Amino acid sequence: MPLIKCPECDYEILARIGTICPNCGHTVSYFEGDKNRKRYGKFFALSLIIPFFSFAMILLTSPFKSALTVATVVYVILAYMSSPLRYKEIFFTTFEKIFFWSIWLLSNALLVTMLYNLFNK
Ligand SMILES: [Zn+2]
Repeated sequence: MPLIKCPECDYEILARIGTICPNCGHTVSYFEGDKNRKRYGKFFALSLIIPFFSFAMILLTSPFKSALTVATVVYVILAYMSSPLRYKEIFFTTFEKIFFWSIWLLSNALLVTMLYNLFNK
């Protein structure tokens, strides 16, 4: 378990949610530390926006095979960028890990199926 500095008194405490600082009584909240909060927000937005963006992009380019090929390449890059693998350190709980991996796997499974059908029609 990583240690963080208590935001109230700089005492070293566990980064786990609900940890109470023995020095001042501050309780560690869900988003402790500015760096992780920003990353978390960014990742959360990415994991919601990217599947929709990819879906729209694939749909719009689907009548044109060459455009669709470009869209597929862009999609693969975006899928990699929004992968929970790159944001491992922001997850506090196993639930979050499972939650984000489920979203990612589900949306990408759908998009890959869609691409497969489009390329084989
Ligand atoms: Zn403290």
